[in-house]
Parts: sequence; C-alpha cells; structure tokens
Amino acid sequence: MEKKQFQAESKRLLEMMINSIYTKKEIFLRELISNASDAIDKMYYKTLTDESLSFDRDQYYIKIIPNKENRTLTVMDTGIGMTKEEMETNLGTIAKSGSLSFKKEHEMKDGFDIIGQFGVGFYAAFMVSEIVTVKSKAFGENQGYEWQSEGTDGYTISECEKDEVGTEVILKLKENTEDDNFDEFLDEWRLKEIVKKYSDFIRYPIKMDVTKHKPKEEGSDEFIDYKEEEVINSMVPIWRKNKNELTDEDYVNFYNEKRYGFDKPLKHIHLTVDGTVRYNAILYIPESAPYDYYTPEYEKGLELYSNGVLIMGKSPDLLPDYFSFVKGMVDSEDLSLNISREMLQQDRQLKFIAKNIKNKIKRELELMLKNEREKYESFYNAFGRQLKFGVYSDFGANKDLLQDLLLFYSSKEKKLVTLDEYVSRMTDEQKYIYYATGDSIERIEKLPQTELVAEKGYEILYLTEDIDEFAIKMLGNYKEKEFRSVSSDDLGINSEEKTEDQETKEETKQLFTSMKEILGDKVKSVKASKRLKSHPVCFSTEGDITIEMEKVINSMPNN
Ligand code: ADP
Ligand code: MG
Repeated sequence: MEKKQFQAESKRLLEMMINSIYTKKEIFLRELISNASDAIDKMYYKTLTDESLSFDRDQYYIKIIPNKENRTLTVMDTGIGMTKEEMETNLGTIAKSGSLSFKKEHEMKDGFDIIGQFGVGFYAAFMVSEIVTVKSKAFGENQGYEWQSEGTDGYTISECEKDEVGTEVILKLKENTEDDNFDEFLDEWRLKEIVKKYSDFIRYPIKMDVTKHKPKEEGSDEFIDYKEEEVINSMVPIWRKNKNELTDEDYVNFYNEKRYGFDKPLKHIHLTVDGTVRYNAILYIPESAPYDYYTPEYEKGLELYSNGVLIMGKSPDLLPDYFSFVKGMVDSEDLSLNISREMLQQDRQLKFIAKNIKNKIKRELELMLKNEREKYESFYNAFGRQLKFGVYSDFGANKDLLQDLLLFYSSKEKKLVTLDEYVSRMTDEQKYIYYATGDSIERIEKLPQTELVAEKGYEILYLTEDIDEFAIKMLGNYKEKEFRSVSSDDLGINSEEKTEDQETKEETKQLFTSMKEILGDKVKSVKASKRLKSHPVCFSTEGDITIEMEKVINSMPNN
C-alpha cells in the first residue's frame, strides 16, 4: 500500500493546528458532527435537485459509537460520502474545504446549513487520536475506500468493504497522560454532554446506544445492563421556531435546560431579525440576581451560535455592562468566524447585533415599566443597582438611555417612582428635584434637613444605596430640572430671614464659639441654619460632596 505524504505546508499546519488553534479538546466532536451534518445536507440537496431521488428523513442520521474495549470512538453518518479522489483532496490537503466548494459550485442559497468552510475542522480529530481511520462510500459508487493517518506522518488510502453510502470516522484515542484524560471521550454521559453543548441543534438526529438498567426478571432485585438507542440532540432550535407556536412554558424550559439561571425568568424576548445582519436571539430578564452578580467574579455574556453550532459559551461583547444581567443566546449565519470557529474574525456584525439587542432590551424594560409595574419593580429590586452603575460609569455616556428606567422612593407617594413621574408632579414654583440620602427610608424620614422641603409640600426622593447619589450627580438634571440635595445650602426656597439677627446676638455667638471648641476638628464651623423647623440641629456639608458620598468614598478599597 503506498503511503502518501501530506503537502509540506500541510504538515507544518497540521502540527500547529493539533497543538494550538483550539482551546478545548472536546471541540473535535463538534467538528466531526458538523462534517457529518454537512454530508447529509449535500445528500438532501442532491435529492432536491434530482427528480429521480427522494429524501426519506428517517434514513439520514449521525451515530456516535464509543467502544471501551478497543479504545475507539466512531462518528458515522449516512451522508453523501467521499470518493477516493475526494478523500485525497479534502482529507489529504489541509485548508481544502470540499464543503465550501460544494456550496459555491451549486450556488446553494438559504435554507441549507452547510457549516464547513475552512477545511481544517477534520484535523481536530488528531488532538485526541493516535490513528484516524475514515471509511467512506460515495453516493453513486460501488466501492468504498479507507483513509488512514497517524497525524503528521502522512496517510494511506485503500479499498475497503462498506455496504451503505456514507462515512465512518474511527478515532483510536490517545492513551491518558498525566495532564490529559482521553477516556472521557468513551464515556456515554460525557459524550452526551458535549453533543448537547455544541451540536444540540444539528438538524439531523445524532444517535447513540445508551446503557440502561432493568431488573433481571420481573420483580427481581438484580439488575442487568442493556443498550438502547437514543437521539441525543434536540434538532430543531427553539429560536428558529415561529413565536406563535411557542408557549411561555417552552421558553422557561429552554431557560432551565440551558442553565441560564436557577430562577424563573421574568421576561423573554424572542428576536428574528432579517436585515443587514440576519440573526435569531432569545433573551431573558431573570427574576433574581445570581449570588455572585455584584462581584467581580460574575461573567456577563450571551451564547453565540453560528448556524446552530455553538461558537462561544459567553460572548461578552454582545451585552453592555449595564444590561449584564440579561441571559440567552444569539444565532447568526452572517458571522465571519476565525479558523478555530471559536472566535470571530471581525466584529462588525457582532457590533451591529449588540447595538440592536441593547435597544431591544431597553424597549422591553420600558414596556414592562409602563404595563407591568409590579413586575418591573421586582426586576428593579434585583438589578436596579446595575442600571445606576450604568448611569454613573463611562462618564455618563449612557445616562440618556438609562434615566427613564430608574426608580427612587418618593416621600409623597411612599413607593418607587420614576423621574418623569416626579417632574410631572412639580409645581411652577418648585425649582429643583429634591433628594435626601441615608441608610434607610426610616432614617431619612427623620432627617432634620428634609423638614423645610417637606413643609413646602415638595416631593423628596429618598436615596438609600451608595450608588444612588453618584448616579444622580452624573445625571445633573432631568428634563431641565436640576437635582438638589436637601442638605444643600441653597434649596431655592424663600424662608423668613430672621437668622441674621440671631447670629449677631452676642449670646448665640458665644454659644457657637464654645460648641466649635468642644467639637474641635469634627466640624468645620457652627452656624445658624435657615432650614430647621422642629429639630434643634443638623449636619450639613459644604460643596458638592454630601456626608453620604463621603462615607462611600472613604469606604472604597483604594482610599
Ligand atoms: P470544512 O468542514 O471546513 O470543509 P473539514 O476539515 O472539517 O473542513 O473537512 C474537510 C472536507 O472533508 C469537507 O469539506 C468535506 O468535503 C470532507 N468531509 C469531511 N468529513 C466528511 C464526511 N463525514 N462526509 C463527507 N465528506 C466529509
Ligand atoms: Mg468541518
């Protein structure tokens, strides 16, 4: 049998590939399954374009066969197969994609999901294999052929027995080493997991004989193992289905299946976009924040699929930080992938999708706020803090986008209100949007500083979270109404000016001087206040930083 060498470039490329382009070994299975799916797609295409043929769906499938005794893993398909020449060109030359040629040659349009394009995926098999054997019989041929290779060494092709049209890729797995375990690819449970992760939405059934147990005889305590063939992928991705066919429950199930969270989603958004960049997306607004949400450990991101095949588990670029709570996935046929198909080559399409998604999420939150206030408040309790961070961060670049999503507790309404609601209740003579800060609503209510404003009948926003005041300062104003702290020197309220003579009185002067002496550095000065009503004293600050903000700044780690 003659042994052919890979082309020189191919040899180097192969070595490089095997060792570096993929971040995870398990990817090999995704690549082999994608090839099998492409091969069936080609068959399907043939039947559509040749009237003498018919496509019987039941006959087309992919099967995964682990064999622990032989240490082999086989991926077989009933696709179009390969001729001897095709084996030579497509498997013997790296970076030669028979699938891409097929797509071009037949000018295949939408509706086909041919995945291959780079002509390298197949070689991922060598990351886990000592020997790769491919047995194939091409559609319309009588003779089957066997291609075999141990990696960089070259390959052989010979005739072989093969009854059915299609391909079998047989991997002789590498022996375990100290660092690497290859046995996992013989484990049914693990194989299922990998298929679910990357290839769940391959359009053809992926089958496997799964080990089960049953009682030896009826009523017996002794169990025996038996195998049962199972389809381990779900095939039709929910995001490609018509919205009208789907129930709320379907969306909740998908959320749970995908382990986006352990709660129930508050809302789902199903997008089918058919514009410059085509994509489908299912997004969720969770009900509660994950335990690590407000920690640096939390990783935002959406799953990213290209044509139903998972490319990235968490693509962070699809979500702005202020919407980092959103879970879900995006599938697009228009992504330009890099060679490992784990990343994108350029992010123009991604940026477009991200912008689109951002606007949809905003719109959906606005609708929820308008139509489902209670739901929105429960969302806000979980994630409002993140929105306020969003207003504050990036030097306020997103404040216009976010300001109408904010809620603050109102002294008048005794509940959360929007800034728009506040402003709509302002009278002509009220100059500012007033706010007061403190640890809790109860505490703020007792603040002496709130008295004057409250007595005037003005509404006050109670800010109880550290980030609140930073966000408010960043906003500066809302609908041309400035924010003003109730502790501010200038409240824009005219009160009777009897303090003037109070301060000049010798008696009070002396009192203030001795108070300052006793308090020392703890206060800057002791003055008569125009603001107090029933309380004898209160603290106030000079300048823009309030006592509450000072507390936050002082508690920051870098301070
Ligand atoms: P790509 O899928 O990007 O084209 P691969 O390296 O994964 O590149 O595969 C190279 C080529 O080998 C494919 O384009 C296809 O022509 C052929 N091939 C691989 N696996 C199969 C298969 N199971 N059935 C038929 N042809 C296959
Ligand atoms: Mg491929």
